[in-house]
Amino acid sequence: QVVTRFAPSPTGFLHIGGARTALFNWLYARHHGGRALLRIEDTDRKRSTPEAIDAILDGLAWLGLDWDGDVVFQSERGARHVEVAEQLLAAGYAYKCYATPEELEDMRAAQRAAKQPLRYDGRWRDRDPADAPTGAPFVVRLKTPQDGETAIDDRVQGRVTVRNAELDDYVLLRADGSPTYMLAVVVDDHDMGVTHVIRGDDHLNNAFRQLPIYRAMGWPEPVYAHIPLIHGSDGAKLSKRHGALGAETYRDEFGILPEALFNYLLRLGWGHGDREEIDREEAIALFDLDGVGKSPSRFDLKKLQNLNGHYIRAADDARLARLVAERIDLPTDEALLARAMPVLKTRARDLDALAEGAAFLFKTRPLSLTDKAASLLEGDARAILRRVSDRLRAENNWTIEALEATTKSLAEELELGLGKLAQPMRAALTGTTTSPGIFDVLVLLGREEALARLDAQAA
Ligand code: GLU
Repeated sequence: QVVTRFAPSPTGFLHIGGARTALFNWLYARHHGGRALLRIEDTDRKRSTPEAIDAILDGLAWLGLDWDGDVVFQSERGARHVEVAEQLLAAGYAYKCYATPEELEDMRAAQRAAKQPLRYDGRWRDRDPADAPTGAPFVVRLKTPQDGETAIDDRVQGRVTVRNAELDDYVLLRADGSPTYMLAVVVDDHDMGVTHVIRGDDHLNNAFRQLPIYRAMGWPEPVYAHIPLIHGSDGAKLSKRHGALGAETYRDEFGILPEALFNYLLRLGWGHGDREEIDREEAIALFDLDGVGKSPSRFDLKKLQNLNGHYIRAADDARLARLVAERIDLPTDEALLARAMPVLKTRARDLDALAEGAAFLFKTRPLSLTDKAASLLEGDARAILRRVSDRLRAENNWTIEALEATTKSLAEELELGLGKLAQPMRAALTGTTTSPGIFDVLVLLGREEALARLDAQAA
């Protein structure tokens, strides 16, 4: 059975890269009918915060990514990590290193002077621990293989090899007895039964250092899939400027729907022909690691917004009304908002655009007008509004078709273009110069409110 895991370090929000890694793990497990696990790697107690944990859990839930079993907190598993380090020690796959920090600093200084790569030189690898002064502090280091090479058949990167001589005997347990990240990841992945490690390719180097632990312990090795990082639209490494923001920023500030971000993240580094719009169920059916590209993908906010527009048009109106109501600083009426959605959502690419478009519905009289709207009421506009209001008041059938026919025949009578009537109407009815079609506006506002707004500006 396939078991994947998403293992974020809670030192910040769930950014775009992390969210995509989470999505790929989740989809791979769901596609194969396996299990998707979540592990919070909170061993760095100084940098991990409860707020970050909440933000990550929140972001994942918002995206609709659910996880099997309990969330594992790495910090709670320290005793087990130590246990494995002791087993490695007892079996001769690890050793105690008594080198003092000063000694190691001298070692690095010499390597620097000789222009050699900086790394631990294995000075305690074959030494008798009895040489150490009694009670001296020590760290536990892994005895990594020195000869030959290690190859990984990565599901995304292909076969990658490293000369073992390049691997150093890194620390498993620190002098204070605490386990390192490198040890904890391997022990946790093994104990959680993880079969597929899908993560950013910034961890590829770690895979070569983690494998010797599996081999020393006789544990089955996971399949690796290291996915290329996300770059900005200019090709540079993704930064905040490019949109490397938390999922909640896309939700709260950009007004993005979760299904749009889901779809966008899916397409960021994975493809199925030239399909753009792929919903959740279809993504589960189609996703596999073969579709993950080898080169970095570029984050493009415009594309995300276009996709969002697509999902807004597809979304249920009552749901949109609920989401949009939160974004309007006026008391709203969700039923009315829902009725307005079909006309509002034809062009909107985010929830704020919907909110902006809907705000006129909830304004109270007298409406405050934008400067542009006020300028549309100059000249004979108010007199025209008087005629419009009187004529519409006589209209018994308050429907788009009837209102349009009546207004058009009035325009003809007055020998004016329809715009000469519609522009001041829009200003009076919405206080702005952009709105849905003017007859939609009349119907949404309802007879009484519409006429009152027209009268308020009519001469
Ligand atoms: N906690 C690591 C990170 O957030 C991921 C470790 C892993 O996936 O092996 O970068």
